[in-house]
Amino acid sequence: MKRTYRCAILLAAAVLFGATAYAEKPKVVILATGGTIAGAALEPTDPGYKSGAVGVDVLIDAVPQLEEIADVSGEQIASIGSQDMNDEVWLKLAKRVNQLLASDDVDGIAITHGTDTLEETSYFLQLVTKSDKPVVMTGSMRPSTAMSADGPLNIYNCVAIAADPAARGRGVLVLIDDDIHSAHDVVKRHTTDVATFTSGEPGLVGVSLFGENTWYRAPAKVHTAKSEFSIAADQKVLPRVDIIYAHANMSPDLIAAAAKNGAKGIVIAGVGDGNMTAPALAEVGRVVEQGVVVVRSSRTNGGITRRNIEVNDDELGTVASMDLNPAKARVLLQLALLKTTDAKKIQDYFNRY
Ligand code: GLU
Repeated sequence: MKRTYRCAILLAAAVLFGATAYAEKPKVVILATGGTIAGAALEPTDPGYKSGAVGVDVLIDAVPQLEEIADVSGEQIASIGSQDMNDEVWLKLAKRVNQLLASDDVDGIAITHGTDTLEETSYFLQLVTKSDKPVVMTGSMRPSTAMSADGPLNIYNCVAIAADPAARGRGVLVLIDDDIHSAHDVVKRHTTDVATFTSGEPGLVGVSLFGENTWYRAPAKVHTAKSEFSIAADQKVLPRVDIIYAHANMSPDLIAAAAKNGAKGIVIAGVGDGNMTAPALAEVGRVVEQGVVVVRSSRTNGGITRRNIEVNDDELGTVASMDLNPAKARVLLQLALLKTTDAKKIQDYFNRY
């Protein structure tokens, strides 16, 4: 073969290989909402810091290795500590997630978020995301300026999961400290520990070691593409649902106050199996009569709050939260109340979601 032909063939092969390699790199959008992962302190050992001080571009630039695993772009959805997370940001985030995932140009989404309410936002997205493509959330316990900041590796692993076809169909996932959790199960269990999240009895969905993912299971409950819940394009707020924490000598006053102040639903973070004092229970009966939906959950953060154990839910008209803790039960009740106030139908949602 003439030398010029050989060169042309080699050049064409190189261009083709390059184009294929480029085309095969998954496209992942990082949506940033703030949190400690975007936090900044004055000193690397300063325990005090400001959440959400650093923008998404800075977070991406801090992890140049992302280029090797995905074609990454970033968008800033909010810049808040997640203690300030609210319906408005949730709705904005959910709408953007669905918009992006509907495009053939997006293979997965990574979301950075404060850890305080990550368990709630992830479960909200798990219920309203209309796609099987990966949606993976992460945060960090140390600010971006800290000695041994945990954010960069969490972002790297989070993007590696969002880019992984094996993550499809597993619902919304949370990556923290190498562990992959289901949004349904993940709970923050410690104020400062970098391994702050646990999935309790259901266990991890998988693990990620420097972007290499190992998968254990698929979440058992209904989620994402199969979920009956959705957010209307013009949805501006969600129904108000309050959580009331039960304790020894609990008075009924806060239950009455919640109903009086406009709560459409109340979740009781009950003692043990969703229990509360007799006066509190009597007040629950009264607000149920007024049309407020009351869900009994447990402050124990473990096990299942079932119907009709010590409380007669059939008589009282209450709903048992099953395996959802109070924070997650609040999310499901908000979305359920967009569809119905019928306690039986809402119990069916709690059984299946
Ligand atoms: N309050 C902060 C937040 O949730 C701190 C927790 C964190 O991000 O680690 O945004």
